[in-house]
Amino acid sequence: MTEQVRTRIAPSPTGPPHVGTAYMALFNLAFARRHEGRMILRIEDTDQLRSTPESEEAILQALSWLGIEWDEGPDCGGEYGPYRQSERTALYQAEVQRLIDQGHAYLCFCSAERLEQLRKEQMANKETPRYDGHCLSLTPEEVEERKNRGDPYVVRLKVPDEGECRFTDELRGEISIQWSQIDHQIIQKSDGFPTYHLANVVDDHLMKISHVIRGEEWISSTPKHILLYEYLGWSAPVFTHLPLLRNPDKSKLSKRKNPTSITYYQDSGFLPEAMLNYLGMMGYTLPDQREIFSLNEFCETFEIKRVSLGGPIFDLDKLKWVNGRYLRENLTPEEVLQRLVEWKGGPSFFSQVIPLALPRLETFSDFFPLSQFLLNENPLYPFDELVGKQEPREVARLLKIAEWELEKVDSWDRDSLASVFQILAETESKKLKELLTPFFVCITGSKVSLPLFDGMALLGADLSRSRIRKALQLLAENDAGLSKKGLKSLEKEYRQSYGKRID
Ligand code: GLU
Repeated sequence: MTEQVRTRIAPSPTGPPHVGTAYMALFNLAFARRHEGRMILRIEDTDQLRSTPESEEAILQALSWLGIEWDEGPDCGGEYGPYRQSERTALYQAEVQRLIDQGHAYLCFCSAERLEQLRKEQMANKETPRYDGHCLSLTPEEVEERKNRGDPYVVRLKVPDEGECRFTDELRGEISIQWSQIDHQIIQKSDGFPTYHLANVVDDHLMKISHVIRGEEWISSTPKHILLYEYLGWSAPVFTHLPLLRNPDKSKLSKRKNPTSITYYQDSGFLPEAMLNYLGMMGYTLPDQREIFSLNEFCETFEIKRVSLGGPIFDLDKLKWVNGRYLRENLTPEEVLQRLVEWKGGPSFFSQVIPLALPRLETFSDFFPLSQFLLNENPLYPFDELVGKQEPREVARLLKIAEWELEKVDSWDRDSLASVFQILAETESKKLKELLTPFFVCITGSKVSLPLFDGMALLGADLSRSRIRKALQLLAENDAGLSKKGLKSLEKEYRQSYGKRID
């Protein structure tokens, strides 16, 4: 009997649910379904500082909204759980110990300063920055002594200095990468947590993953993974690296140029089935070239070899065109009405907005102009209204700081938002009211509207953040944006006054 096909998606819960995750999920699901296999959802939260339960929740919610179903995962369990890496630490530590005992990994006590110095020297000599194996020369007694002394250490993978790693990618054929290009990867951090590479390999093995289908940004990591499989005495899965989604200008899909959060599309009124259909067109055409297809049709006919490697362009206008076709061709007017009500036309939406609008209402006809910013994708406003009486560059500066600060907000509610702007006003020594004007304009399209923080809370994190980004773009188009240099110095100033950035 041949091995069962088991694929997986392994998102890291470190931010809003990304369309790239949905793209990978769709192709993993289709491959598994086509081969009567299973798809697993695993949460890769080894980065304890950046992972949040809110982000995990949002990823699960967004994938479910799209209609992606997984067979095993942190929410539904399965035979090979737990499916959250932070609950599997002991498993990783045991494998790391095995690697150390067998001489395939070693403790490294090098300080951050030494590593930085080494990196600088290698860069100056035009060499690939790579750990120089300094701690490999420590004797077992020295290692013991330093460990007992409590010196902080990481565990590194021993990587050959010479030769090359060869592996096969289902779409690209044989790939070979020189070992000299591969760093002595840290596999366990000083806090005892594994890094992505170790945890990913251990889990793919223990969860019996037969096919790893992931983004091409992981190709350069694959040799480390192959080495780990070899050292641990396990056979490696079949690797397929899908092309990355791109902005219309061919750069890697980024939120500066294109909304990347799935929630953005949900909140701005796209149909999940149209979105999935569109993702299924990324680097892929159905054998019969159909453009409009259901998830089932996609899965039933899926052939991974048909994926083309040219970077697929994620184009908002094309997505809207597909969505429009769905509205007109796949739904009856009654269904459209029902879906519209489920989206934002229902009593729950109105009951949230009415209390905010009521103090400003004289007649019903005042209601829609006041609340339309909650229903449109992007409000339109003139540049002059955005800057008002302020210096345009100062407005850009404040919007940028707010954008960074808002990235840090995990629970997007009125009070958290109020406190972000309160801190901003205090740090910038500005009156809150004056500070808020450009935000009113870019979020609501007008200087007078519903209360801003409630409005932003109702609008949601993704639409609010993207409106701030849009305003920054508008400023840049009017030569009032931040230059590269200006941005760099603002970032420095920001770090001093507000702390670390999260992106
Ligand atoms: N946690 C990784 C990510 O966030 C998964 C990469 C992989 O599929 O191996 O993309």
